Amino acid sequence: MRDRPTLLPMASSSPPPVRPGLYRFQPPPLPTDYRPRPGLRNIRLHEVDLYVTMKCNIRCDFCSVRAGEYGHHDLPLDRIIRFIDEAVALGLEELHFLGGEPTIRDDLETMVHHASSKGVSTRIITNGMLLTRDRIARLRDLGLGEIMISVDGLRDRHTQLRRSGAHGWEKTLRTVEDAIALGLWTRVSATAYQRNYDDVVPLLRLVNDLGAHCFSVFLGSPLGRGHGMIDDVISPYQWRALQEAVRDEGAKLRPDLELVMEQGFQWADGPVVDRSTLKGRGTGCNTLLEDYDYLIVRSDGHLYQCVFFMTEGQPIGTIVDQPLEATLQYALERADYQPFTVANDKCCDCSHAGPCGTGCRGYAYLYKNDWLKTDPRCSKAEPRAEEAPPYFPLCPILKHNVRTGAFGGSSEQALRS
Ligand code: SF4
Ligand code: SF4
Repeated sequence: MRDRPTLLPMASSSPPPVRPGLYRFQPPPLPTDYRPRPGLRNIRLHEVDLYVTMKCNIRCDFCSVRAGEYGHHDLPLDRIIRFIDEAVALGLEELHFLGGEPTIRDDLETMVHHASSKGVSTRIITNGMLLTRDRIARLRDLGLGEIMISVDGLRDRHTQLRRSGAHGWEKTLRTVEDAIALGLWTRVSATAYQRNYDDVVPLLRLVNDLGAHCFSVFLGSPLGRGHGMIDDVISPYQWRALQEAVRDEGAKLRPDLELVMEQGFQWADGPVVDRSTLKGRGTGCNTLLEDYDYLIVRSDGHLYQCVFFMTEGQPIGTIVDQPLEATLQYALERADYQPFTVANDKCCDCSHAGPCGTGCRGYAYLYKNDWLKTDPRCSKAEPRAEEAPPYFPLCPILKHNVRTGAFGGSSEQALRS
């Protein structure tokens, strides 16, 4: 598929050093006398990623949120239940339980049941190692809608990347099989780096044979613990080749196997990604704080709008001891993220800033220690040039339906539009 060394590098034995800004930011406290200013538009929530714990049974080399390295207490069950009620009142439709490893919490069933009883679509995102068949059946009976299980390759590469030990891969695959057999909508998701690049297509075949409903591939970034894998990040051309390989292989497999990948880049000779027709996460920094289509709740109650801010960026608020709606209203008024919407450097002079959206502030920070620098993935040498560069960088979270070509701010939008 591409020109690169085929030797499998050894995983480093210790996690990458913690960067100076890690966990430094505290959420702005809600003033006790806060009243939203007249005319502030209504808050609408569509989708929430609820990190129910930052504890994890394994230590993946690329964990985007550095699970296992936090000292805080997880939100208690009663606050999570009240949060769900508050979010439902604001229109919540989709709730994802993740972490860390969400199945570590034995009150996960209560959360799932409460959300599903309110008509919210639910999903757990799990490494699948701790789930028994009985527990999967129980979760299903309590209203769990979907399960998304992380598998990053065949046995050796998955085990190395995820440090999942002897038989960890087998246990994860057994969970995939159990979930499918129990009739749960099952998605297998891989994150691709140099190390497991060659495993993605064989894994796709395996997922097809297992009977899963969906296979997704994320373009691994150097986020969180993944900062130690900065040399392992796949180049734009390699990513494009992998997208094509998945598309071509997928055409030979079960047509009902849904395929979704992160898009990564807008190619000069590729289809136009019209971000104005998309919504929610994945549409780029420009939409942060324009709405709350998507919200992240970290397990200590801190709120974010993008995973790239979760370890080293500013939370927009907290729900530990503050009501959700007023906290979101106050964040709208403070607009802490607003400066992030305009990158400096080359982007200021660039004639493609509109369609490009100025790339990703998170990538700029990870590579240049400055949120406002030009995205390091930008291929444009001369910003004033009218000619389109071979590609420009998109919000890395934007998704692409491999079978239909549809784009989406989220996988669901790409798959269902
Ligand atoms: S193409 Fe490059 S310079 Fe132009 S707006 Fe995008 S990231 Fe900035
Ligand atoms: S472009 Fe980057 S920082 Fe901006 S919303 Fe997307 S992932 Fe987050």
